[in-house]
Amino acid sequence: MLSIAAANHRADRQGGVRSVRVAVLLALLALSASAAPTPAAAMSTAGPEQLAYTLDARATANGQLAGSLGIAFTNTGTSALSEVWLRLWGNGPAGCRPQRVKVTVLSGGTAASPERNCTALRVQLATPLAAGQRGALQLRVQVRLPRDNDRFGFANGASYYGDGIPVVAPLRDGQPDLDSFIALGDPFLISAAAWRTTLTWPAGLAAAVTGARQAASAAPAGWQRATFDAASARDFMIAVGPWRATRTSRDGTQITVLAPRSLRGAAMLRAAASAFHSFTSSYGSAEESELYVVLTPGLISQGMEYSGVVLSEPDPETVVHEVAHQWFSQLVGSDGWRTPWLDETLTTYAEMRQLGNLPQNCDLERPFADYGRARLSWTLADFDRDPQDVYGAIYDGGACAFAALDEEWGGTRFPELLRAYVAQYRHGLADTAGFIAMLRAAAPSDYDVDAFLTFARLTS
Ligand SMILES: [Zn+2]
Repeated sequence: MLSIAAANHRADRQGGVRSVRVAVLLALLALSASAAPTPAAAMSTAGPEQLAYTLDARATANGQLAGSLGIAFTNTGTSALSEVWLRLWGNGPAGCRPQRVKVTVLSGGTAASPERNCTALRVQLATPLAAGQRGALQLRVQVRLPRDNDRFGFANGASYYGDGIPVVAPLRDGQPDLDSFIALGDPFLISAAAWRTTLTWPAGLAAAVTGARQAASAAPAGWQRATFDAASARDFMIAVGPWRATRTSRDGTQITVLAPRSLRGAAMLRAAASAFHSFTSSYGSAEESELYVVLTPGLISQGMEYSGVVLSEPDPETVVHEVAHQWFSQLVGSDGWRTPWLDETLTTYAEMRQLGNLPQNCDLERPFADYGRARLSWTLADFDRDPQDVYGAIYDGGACAFAALDEEWGGTRFPELLRAYVAQYRHGLADTAGFIAMLRAAAPSDYDVDAFLTFARLTS
């Protein structure tokens, strides 16, 4: 996403972007050796994994959704699984009063009372699941959006259900991820999963849903219905609104800009398609048959990414940023609460490289000069506690640090490392230790990686 803090920071740099095209210039000086990273260990994926969600829901024109949600999963751990935790991220901002997302377990288990400000729900399985066995839950889900122009909200006739459908909490070190919601950034840890969604929504409104749209099916008068299939998605989105569509295709992916009728989407479609093609060339296929870019003037977070769907202000920089997230946060996931830099620094780096810019005030000698004592290694909780507004450190500060690395490494070695990183963690979860291991493996033999880690504030 682009946070409020980062958006403010970005607003500061109007007219000040340095178009030095460092990456392009330095490509001429590129070293001939290519990155040859050794495989790094991925974050543990034991627990209720190999997830498949089947959602059949109706979304109204005024921000309400109701339907059934089936969740199938395999116990990939080595001992029996007696419970799973669901995360109800839509309850993050408001907590329990009012509870925006309500779940009833219809079969497969019994729910306890919601915890963590109604963002976590423990479900005792009806029968413990032996190692390697597959189980399922059937839920009824009701969502009532707040009247906010936000990723989970209803505004200007548009409904955004970002991360509003319950998902299974992955295990970390054998324990379910139960970190509290923090309004800053994207405090989510979500396993890639298959999604099949059958959505019924009002005739006359457009819909953007994670997954490839299948043929429409019969719907009651005044409604339309279609099924959307995603083989592997992470952050899930349904958006419904009074939009006009503009489309093109790149690299086998249909790219659709959905815009309010007062906006023309053509320039944003060109920015999205150009970025999508560049990122596919640089970092490998996004493995998406469809990508929706929903233009959202006044969105609180300025932009936000989901698998196959992004929300963005009608501004090319934001569009490019959110498209880059299809690689850095959706295809390659990470722990948004503990390592927020992994998504935002790498996304901002890709964005800057695509735009041929450096972040404003990017001093290649001192990339964090504007960010107090903030570190890339900080968690969201660290940023939330810091009295200064330095969250931009993981956006422009981090991107500036890696632009400096580009200067030292010759412009192509680090992008090649990112391509290998995407290949390594595709559909999985990356972490800082794994990234650093790949950085060490890719570095020229005489390069002081430890000095760079200190420079980039990646040490704790
Ligand atoms: Zn972002």
